[in-house]
Amino acid sequence: MVTFPPGDDQSVCAICENPFEEYDSEFASNYANLVCETCDEKAVTKHGTEEVTRPANETEGNPVYIDGHKCWRRYRFGGHITRLDEYDCESVEEFHKQHRGDFVD
Ligand SMILES: [Zn+2]
Repeated sequence: MVTFPPGDDQSVCAICENPFEEYDSEFASNYANLVCETCDEKAVTKHGTEEVTRPANETEGNPVYIDGHKCWRRYRFGGHITRLDEYDCESVEEFHKQHRGDFVD
C-alpha cells in the first residue's frame, strides 16, 4: 500500500506532510511518495552511522536517508526529485516495482 501512488494528486510531502511549496500537485502526481525540498536538504547517504555524507551523484546518491527514512532519488536535468520508500527496497528497480506497477523506464 503506497500512501501517495503515482496517478493520484499529491499536495503534501510524504515525510513531513507539509504542503508543497516547490511542486504543484499535478507534478507530484507523476511520482510515488514525493518528498519536499525542506526534507530533501536533510538527506544523507549513510544510515545509522555517524558519517553524514551529502549525496553527490546518481551512483553515490541512492538510497538516501531523511530522518531515518529510506528514500530513492531520480536525477535528471541537473536536478533531482526524492521519493520515500515504504518497503525498504534494495534497489531503485525494486522501489519502482513496489511503488508503481506501471513503471517503464
Ligand atoms: Zn517534507
